[in-house]
Amino acid sequence: MPHNTMKKRNCWWLWILLIAFGAAQPQQFDKPPVLFKEPLSPRIANYDIDVRLDPQTKMIQGKQLLTWKNTTANETAELQFHLYLNGFRNNRSTFMIESGGRHRGNKIDRQGWGFIEINQMTLLPAASSDAVPNYIQLPNPETRLEVPGEDLTADMGFIQPDNPEHIHDKTVLRVPLPRMVKPGESVSVYVDFTAKLPEPPFARTGAKEEYFFVGQWFPKVGVLEEDGWNCHQFHLNSEFFADYGVYNVWITVPQANIVGATGLQVGQPLVNDDGSATHYYHAEDVHDFAWTTSPEYLEFKGKAQDVEIRALVQPDHREQGARHVEAARVAIEYFQNWYGDYPYPNLTVIDPRRGAEGSGGMEYPTLITAGTNYGMPEGVRLPEMVIIHEFGHNYWYHLLASNEFEESWLDEGINTYTEIQIMNDQYGPRGDFIDFLGVQVNDREYQRLVYLLLPDADPMLRNAWDYYSNMSYAINSYARPGLVLSTLHNYLGQEKMLEVMRAYVARWRFKHPTSRDFINTASDVVGEDLSWFFDQALYGNGVLDYSVDRVFTRVYEPDRGVDFDYNPAEFVHPAHAGESPPGMEDSLADSLAEITPVDSSDADAEKRYYSGVNLRRLGEFKFPVELRVEFEDGEVIRETWDGKDLWKKFRYLKPARLVSASVDPDNKVVMDANFTNNSKVVEPAAAGINKLSVRWLFWMQFLLDQPEFLNLFSFFL
Ligand SMILES: [Zn+2]
Repeated sequence: MPHNTMKKRNCWWLWILLIAFGAAQPQQFDKPPVLFKEPLSPRIANYDIDVRLDPQTKMIQGKQLLTWKNTTANETAELQFHLYLNGFRNNRSTFMIESGGRHRGNKIDRQGWGFIEINQMTLLPAASSDAVPNYIQLPNPETRLEVPGEDLTADMGFIQPDNPEHIHDKTVLRVPLPRMVKPGESVSVYVDFTAKLPEPPFARTGAKEEYFFVGQWFPKVGVLEEDGWNCHQFHLNSEFFADYGVYNVWITVPQANIVGATGLQVGQPLVNDDGSATHYYHAEDVHDFAWTTSPEYLEFKGKAQDVEIRALVQPDHREQGARHVEAARVAIEYFQNWYGDYPYPNLTVIDPRRGAEGSGGMEYPTLITAGTNYGMPEGVRLPEMVIIHEFGHNYWYHLLASNEFEESWLDEGINTYTEIQIMNDQYGPRGDFIDFLGVQVNDREYQRLVYLLLPDADPMLRNAWDYYSNMSYAINSYARPGLVLSTLHNYLGQEKMLEVMRAYVARWRFKHPTSRDFINTASDVVGEDLSWFFDQALYGNGVLDYSVDRVFTRVYEPDRGVDFDYNPAEFVHPAHAGESPPGMEDSLADSLAEITPVDSSDADAEKRYYSGVNLRRLGEFKFPVELRVEFEDGEVIRETWDGKDLWKKFRYLKPARLVSASVDPDNKVVMDANFTNNSKVVEPAAAGINKLSVRWLFWMQFLLDQPEFLNLFSFFL
């Protein structure tokens, strides 16, 4: 709904109640700004939430009005909600069964469970469905509102759509409605809830001493699709999926606290009689809302093009504050220049507290959490990589908002690709990720190392909780699609690939695109059906590996033996017609037809060499490759092969010896699983591995010997 009609509405029922309670006149905030004259998104799920934090108990009290619109062609008689915090409720939740209480190297504390409890749910009368509460200043946060309407509380029940056997999982709440919501209709539901945050933060959310990062904290309505509700349980290996809307959130915390949140702050915080203060945040066309508070935050500011940057940094990371802002500037400018407009006026970057790493490296609309350590050397660009990665999500997770439960690569995988490109352009060409004490590692090489740990356990596309293992989920959601798209980038060239990505953002922003939408957009822009490529990557587990299997060169002696009346190139023994006789592969009869024509005018005067290269496709994945053949006199020949057959032979009659042959000589096919077989030289045999492969092997060995490098990888889950 257009915002200008929304802001005029008054929440008449709240006023009546407040007067009935004898409450003081509620304090008033300014009206929120209208960010976008026309809504950018279909505003399906709109929230007004009053939330109060008790910093001692780590509990929050929430009063929420959801105004939800049915934009499908079918009526529905129920609502479904995600109650993500119940994933941390006990060891029988789906999340805990799948994780064993571990996530990204963090462990849930045995005393630190989190949960969310719905105290009351009421369907408002249809006439007041447009109501949006203004700030609810109740005399006592424990007070329940007697909201007019139909009480749904008794009919609520938990369902486990993905794992019916997980009967104790309480992360999906189903609420039958007393009447149908027809296509185009809206309903308003008032929810009173209490939640406890995990301590310390676990799996993206929670509290640590004075620090709070509050994510996935409110009852969030699922997505109604044409074939029903899409509302999955909270799984270990999954992120999120939600509809867009307008959020007004009033956050009450101790007066000395600093607050950061999704959206824009409206006015100044209001100080309450009990020593707390209420901060009002407003966000439009977002599909989630996260907030943080701590009295310790140091604030750093910056600007990138038309976007205000605010970084909230821990005091012991003070000297890294400017670095956070600079990395955010780099990220915003690259994304706007390469992939399209970021329509929001601001970005908030949160640096989690020590001991609260479980809340680091995560994305929310207009707010990201990064992470750093005291004294992080400049040449270890982990903070930059995390910020570029997490800001990237504001495109793939936020602006496009694909279903991360079902097609995780559309977010994490595309994001890994854009991270690789930006890291390399900004900090490359060598050592764009690590350039420290003589060690140089590119992000792309790092992703490839991770990919090769388990390249073929699954197709890239599966439900996030259905992969063979956590490692397979991670590889197929991050590293593998990152390399698949980097390979496509090199195949199409930078300009064409940028066109593809820009078209994808422009066509699909705010529309929840699927894999097929990405493939179709890319095919449209390129003018070629790219299904041959994507189908292999998305639906197959095939590995790509082309090798130079054999090279040889020898003096060509055309007249040897007896009887040269026949043309050997055309001669086929009747017994072998239609087949390649065994052992004949290097014979003149087999090979002359493939010889590149040479000028034979001085053939008698000069010695000539007969040379050959055999390429093999060792993996299932078919992809066109190039071959570079070098001769002793400096001549270089480039060949192309569509890569479809199992092998291809190239033969030459030349005035010089063949020296070396390389398949994919420019290293474009970054998803090739084995670089060590990509080239061969004729002599000496010991140098049969090209320089790049040697370097790669060295780094691979080095990295595999560093367990913390593999841990870094899990940082991005
Ligand atoms: Zn990510």
